Amino acid sequence: MRVIRARTLGFCAGVRRTVDLALEAAKKYETRLFTVGPLIHNERTLRELAELGFSVLDEDKLPESLVHSTTVIRAHGIGPQTRQYLLQRGTKIIDATCPKVRKSQLKALELSKKGFAVFIAGEKNHGEVRGIRMFARNSLVVEDEGEAFDAAKELFSKNKDAKTAVIGQTTISGAEYRAVCAAIKRFFPDLAVHDTICGATVARQKALAALCAEVDALVIAGDPASSNTRRLLATASTHTKPGWIVRDASALPPELGSFGTIGLSAGTSTPDALIGEVERAISLL
Ligand code: SF4
Repeated sequence: MRVIRARTLGFCAGVRRTVDLALEAAKKYETRLFTVGPLIHNERTLRELAELGFSVLDEDKLPESLVHSTTVIRAHGIGPQTRQYLLQRGTKIIDATCPKVRKSQLKALELSKKGFAVFIAGEKNHGEVRGIRMFARNSLVVEDEGEAFDAAKELFSKNKDAKTAVIGQTTISGAEYRAVCAAIKRFFPDLAVHDTICGATVARQKALAALCAEVDALVIAGDPASSNTRRLLATASTHTKPGWIVRDASALPPELGSFGTIGLSAGTSTPDALIGEVERAISLL
């Protein structure tokens, strides 16, 4: 069967750097190894890291002692309080926070120091958002347009002259971000909007959209738990192409054999080797 790869797919620069730094740490440090939260949304990579000795720390239940250990901070980053806690418990920190996320964290800190109420448009329980909000004293996380409207209304009722700014989770879609900003601007027309969206997910969506014209169906290699992977599937469905997310080659659906040409894409957490395996398996159908 013919397989065509999307022009852009798989690991983004931030995830690649995170994984490389973790692998390097495993070689370099003969200590206990930790990550704060799962390093990436990919089961196979997490299994490989576990085999190298990594354990995953729960940010809400950090242990009392971390002496003689090395802790890798994933691309989503952590808040300053969590960093302080880790350092005080004696671990060596390898900071693999994505530079784009770091930029958002520093922007939140700067805005907070200037007295802004900082809206953060994104998923409340997402590691990146949890980290960024710790940098701003006065932050409000809003998941969608409706929540943005309600939060802005409440703030307006308390302080109609509040200085307001908004930061988006790096993986929010442009349309969602614009809708959130518009809702806040109904109360605070001077809202300072910061462009924090990362081009990596958009680039993968655009590449997949372009591929749709050339193929009969799509396979997205990745973990269904990864939100950018699910967005790729949604892009396929917008272009009315049948599509499947597959964790690995063994998960390819049998009905794939009835299509002529298959397009292949992959989320930002999907390792190169896994993409190659899925590609080979489709070509043998
Ligand atoms: S999607 Fe963008 S912001 Fe997120 S880790 Fe990758 S490069 Fe960094």
